[in-house]
Amino acid sequence: MSPFAYARAASSEDAVRLGGQAGAAYLGGGTNLVDLMRETVARPSALVDVTGLSEAIVERDDGSLLIGAAARNTAVAEHRAVRAAYPMLARAILAGASAQIRNMATVGGNLLQRTRCTYFYDNQGSRCNKREPGQGCDAIGGFNRIHAILGASASCVATHPSDMCVALAALDAVVHLSSPAGERSLPLTELHRLPGDHPEVETALHPGELITAVELPALAFARNSTYRKVRDRASYAFALVSVAAALALEDGRVKDVRLALGGVAHKPWRAWRAEQALRGQPATGDAFRAAAEAELAAAQPLRDNGFKIELANRSIVAVLGELSGEVA
Ligand SMILES: Cc1cc2nc3c(=O)[nH]c(=O)nc-3n(C[C@H](O)[C@H](O)[C@H](O)COP(=O)(O)OP(=O)(O)OC[C@H]3O[C@@H](n4cnc5c(N)ncnc54)[C@H](O)[C@@H]3O)c2cc1C
Ligand code: SF4
Repeated sequence: MSPFAYARAASSEDAVRLGGQAGAAYLGGGTNLVDLMRETVARPSALVDVTGLSEAIVERDDGSLLIGAAARNTAVAEHRAVRAAYPMLARAILAGASAQIRNMATVGGNLLQRTRCTYFYDNQGSRCNKREPGQGCDAIGGFNRIHAILGASASCVATHPSDMCVALAALDAVVHLSSPAGERSLPLTELHRLPGDHPEVETALHPGELITAVELPALAFARNSTYRKVRDRASYAFALVSVAAALALEDGRVKDVRLALGGVAHKPWRAWRAEQALRGQPATGDAFRAAAEAELAAAQPLRDNGFKIELANRSIVAVLGELSGEVA
């Protein structure tokens, strides 16, 4: 057990001041961070509890939603406006973890939860560049069935584990941040990084930067959206592949689309290529398949995870078929 200090922040300013200390970490529901502390993968010298900060979910006049970073996952999934206007987000959250964990987990913590790569958690015998930069990566030559097929590097092939973030990536969510340098915001798609040579640097956040809120822009056709998660068990399992999609049709053609994938990369993977391939195309299985293949063309399987390519292709086709009214 490593000793650590604990303080509960009374405001964002208070949190940023306390979180700026060397070795400090923000504490949301603790459902990931405390596990990592138990495994000695994370060793913060101080925890700054941010669960007392804004948990409000505000419906704005322009149709957008502003969700406080301390909002619990359950509260977001059950919110009337989220369920009606962004069903993919409600479904993505409900596909994750268990009811008890979703009751504790916060939006800010969900965004920054760490990979579930088993070698990353094994602090006793495995090499991991994310845990110890320069050490090597035991997943690359090891058992890598759950690992990345897109955007990986020779340093790290881990995936991002969050379901919620996949829906947020598809919905063009914006993350609001606070630090001593002031306030700023970032598109969700720019929050998480690909591993490159520095898998230990997982986000574009500055040291000590606090997530204060997540904004969901108005998107009328997100009412026709869903989230599908393919996993080894029906509950308590992370995605092998997941798909978040929203679809707008006009005269049998794709007028607009949002598509993101989970379980395939170090970050929630916005499927820009597939979206581009789909706009203006007839809403048919052939067009959906062609778009999925365009996105997955860059996939680079490891020894054990080649099945994810066809799984992702089929999942995209099935989800788009469902949203276009076909039985999937
Ligand atoms: C058994 C189990 C199964 C799970 N299954 C799934 C699943 O299927 N799908 C899924 O998506 N997730 C799953 N999870 C993960 C779960 O969703 C996360 O643990 C949870 O969302 C983290 O939220 P938290 O508030 O508890 O974060 P914490 O554990 O408190 O923090 C996580 C990270 O976020 C940082 N942080 C927290 N708040 C802020 C903030 N406001 N600003 C800046 N940094 C902050 C912390 O410093 C820490 O680094 C599972 C977890 C468990 C234990
Ligand atoms: S895949 Fe990434 S997280 Fe997993 S062992 Fe390799 S470097 Fe570590």
